[in-house]
Amino acid sequence: MTLRDWLNGCALARVDALALLRELAGVDHATVLAHPLRALDAAARQRLDAAAARLRDGEPLAYVLGWREFHGLRLQVNPAVLVPRPDTELLVDFVLQRYAAGDAPNLLDLGTGSGAIAVSLAHALPAARVWAVDASAAALEVAQANARALLPPARAPLRLLQGDWLAALPADAPRFDCIVSNPPYVAAGDPHLPALRHEPSLALVGAQPSADGLADLRRIVRDAPAHLSRGGWLALEHGHDQARAVRALLAARGLQQVHSLKDLAGIARVSAGRLGSGAMPPRNATRNGIWQTS
Ligand code: GLN
Repeated sequence: MTLRDWLNGCALARVDALALLRELAGVDHATVLAHPLRALDAAARQRLDAAAARLRDGEPLAYVLGWREFHGLRLQVNPAVLVPRPDTELLVDFVLQRYAAGDAPNLLDLGTGSGAIAVSLAHALPAARVWAVDASAAALEVAQANARALLPPARAPLRLLQGDWLAALPADAPRFDCIVSNPPYVAAGDPHLPALRHEPSLALVGAQPSADGLADLRRIVRDAPAHLSRGGWLALEHGHDQARAVRALLAARGLQQVHSLKDLAGIARVSAGRLGSGAMPPRNATRNGIWQTS
């Protein structure tokens, strides 16, 4: 079978077919164009056909290849973690624009998944102390692997904690200069869920799916301010129709300079607010909360 025969017969979007040829058969686009009649050997064809079947079944290319690029880094991914989306780079840039390369802020990523946000922050800010929480042990293994593969050995290790949002933090955790999260925010019954069926529902709708998708965002907005340093920011990714609701939650919690940021498609995708310089919320507010599990 020739390259052209395989391309014409695989029933995939051309961009996906070319990615499989490049990654699984070592054949780049230029070669496909210049030598369409080159033969595919049997082993390569078997790998390609197996991968193509997974894509036709709707599995994300990132799972089939085992990696996805995010903020310039090649992150390992598997079905235990949400595939990192380009829109989430907004959250990383929101934090990075506040610091110079040598700064050493305390940063916290809630629901880190593959570690996309936390590892990107740690990579760009080598002196930062970055903490990351996830409820899923399998996700934390992926985040750990990415931290090991992508962060220079001299860099302080990421602190990875398993648990339930802020309750995962030990009592001696510092106050954080930025707390960021891309939590589950898809509403139960959202019509997009069938197309996302290969990704972990814990990352999409959360442990307790809610009709408006805001359940985890509410908990984070309630509990995170107690862990912010004076002037610290809480920045949250949310759904395309949730910006107004999330801004209202942030403002009701007493955060200041509440505003939203637009993603690549022009949709308000991240909303943020800042702890004022007045009285700090008590640190024990979260740990005494009914959600504490660790
Ligand atoms: N952005 C994802 C999607 O809509 C959802 C991610 C999330 O719930 N945090 O496909």
